[in-house]
Formats: sequence, C-alpha cells, structure tokens
Amino acid sequence: MTTDYSHLLVPSETIGSYTIDQFIEAATQFHGYAAPGLVLGGFMVDAAIKALPDDILFDALSETSWCLPDAVQMLSPCSVGNGWLKILNLGLYSVCLYDKFTGHGVRLWVDLDKIDLDSEIRTWLLKNKPKQEQDSPLLRRQILEAGASICSMRDVQVKPEQRIKRSKGTVVPCPICGEPYPAQFGAICRSCQGESPYLDNLGTDIMPEPSLVATPVEKAVGGQALHDMTRIEPGVSKGPEFKYGQILTGGDVCRLQRMGRSRI
Ligand SMILES: [Zn+2]
Repeated sequence: MTTDYSHLLVPSETIGSYTIDQFIEAATQFHGYAAPGLVLGGFMVDAAIKALPDDILFDALSETSWCLPDAVQMLSPCSVGNGWLKILNLGLYSVCLYDKFTGHGVRLWVDLDKIDLDSEIRTWLLKNKPKQEQDSPLLRRQILEAGASICSMRDVQVKPEQRIKRSKGTVVPCPICGEPYPAQFGAICRSCQGESPYLDNLGTDIMPEPSLVATPVEKAVGGQALHDMTRIEPGVSKGPEFKYGQILTGGDVCRLQRMGRSRI
C-alpha cells in the first residue's frame, strides 16, 4: 500500500512560512545567493514536511551535499550541527524526512519524467549546456512556476543503522597532536592517521608526504629517512625516534617494525 501524495506535488505560492519573495531573500542571506537548487529544494522540503504527521519529531536525510541541505536547515529544526540532518552524498537530488523514533518517512526526488524535454530545468539538471549559456532568469521562472510538481514522493522506511544516534563516546587527548578526539577513532586522532587536509601537517610527522613513494622497511636499509618518525607510547615518548635524513641500518628496520611501521 502506498500513499498518494499527488495533492502535495503542485505549484505553490509559499515555501514554508515564507512567500516566494521572502524565501528568495532568506535564501540569499543564508546561502549567499538564491541558487536554483535551493529554491527547488525549498519546495521539496516544504512538501515533505506537509506529508508528515504534525505531531512527530523528524530527522532529515539529504542525498546530495549541493544546496538541498540548506533548504532543510532553512525550513526545519534539522541542521548538520544538531545532528538531525544527515548528508549521504549519493549525488541524487533527493531529500527524506522521517520519524526520529520509527524511521518511517517520505522521500522526495526530482522526477525527470515530469520535466519537459525542452525545459530549462532539464538543461540545468543534466548540465546539457555550460552554465554561462544557460538562461538563468528563465530557469528561475520555470522553477517558481513548477514548485514541487516536478518531483515524486513515496513512503520509505529508513534503515536502523542510518538512524543510530551519533555519540562521541569517550574523549581522549591524541598522543601525537594533543588535541581531544573520540577514542573510538583509534589510538591516534584521524588527522594524525593521515586524514589531515593540510600540507603543513602539524604534529603528524609519522605520515609521509603524499608525493613520496612509500618503501617496505626491509628494503630501506642504507636509505635516508625522508621525514621524522615518531614512536607512539602514550605518556612516555613522543619525540621523533628517527630524524629526517638519518641513514637507516638493519637494526633500525627492526626498530621500525616494532614501532608498527611496515612502510616508510
Ligand atoms: Zn592527533
């Protein structure tokens, strides 16, 4: 049995509690500019909220990281920061709102079957033309005229593992950089594990530069260490065990292996 949501998938003069003009103004404040995706997302989130019973607490799932999460944050209490909005970047222009406790909800997506072949919306969605050749005023007009009518909506049941409440668990100082992090991420923080986005990777000398070739330690005898290497013994030692430029000996290889390094 599926619910018929067609009465919600119609053009609309309002988005949530906003008039269209107010929403465009609010979107400009929130997002920097009233992107077409955000305006369309506004209609989508508005329709999804109307599809849910009034008296439930809902969470949101955005299947794209582009624009749509901001429509959720503008129109509902769900935000990335409070954890009630999750982004699962499948690259699909789709949003789901669901009951926090039961996982039952609705998924709304842009339905190509409902978009005319010569529509500027289709050109924009499928990137059929370079952005500078797209007709932005026409696109805006068509999105405002269409509202949620170019979408489809269906009931969904969100998987239990998607609904697990995020928890930091125990927090400990990282033995390398000293910053507090959730112990469940491992013996050292994820940044020091090599996930730092920065080139000047403060405190993370155990990771090689990405451009350098890692060598199995047993083949490294006679070579030079290209970076400092740190032995991690929480509370005992965190000075570099091997210094940049140091020539590696057979004994060093054993020590490196005891430090848990198979490649350098
Ligand atoms: Zn760290």
